Amino acid sequence: MFTDRVEFTFDAGHRLYGYKGKCETPHGHTFKAEVMLSSEKIDQMGFVVDFLELGHKVGKWVEENWDHAFLANGQDKEMLRALNSLTDRRVFIFPDENPTAEVIARYLYNHVRSVYGPLVSRVRIWETPTEYAEYSEASRA
Ligand SMILES: [Zn+2]
Repeated sequence: MFTDRVEFTFDAGHRLYGYKGKCETPHGHTFKAEVMLSSEKIDQMGFVVDFLELGHKVGKWVEENWDHAFLANGQDKEMLRALNSLTDRRVFIFPDENPTAEVIARYLYNHVRSVYGPLVSRVRIWETPTEYAEYSEASRA
């Protein structure tokens, strides 16, 4: 089995709606995303995927959607009201969930799957240098 792994970083804000603790206040992280794609076979170029293409297709999506954005829970009306009052804003909404590392990892996994199909094996989102959440689907691992 071959596995290709790339990482992307993005700076984003969030808060955990309904959480009691310091993460209930708006704050930011330099998130690191790790994307892994696995295959038993490589193509005629010798690749599982072309790193350059992966950076273009996935890295660009991350940059355009999440970098310097505020990741918000769509149920967090107070936060959305505050964000909507700003002239300049970039907001990415997770309709019914808090933007935790777990939720972000699953979202990115599904995005990469929409591009690369079953080649995607797992996605990790590092929220701090020592903490990450990982998403994979057992049947595809
Ligand atoms: Zn946080």
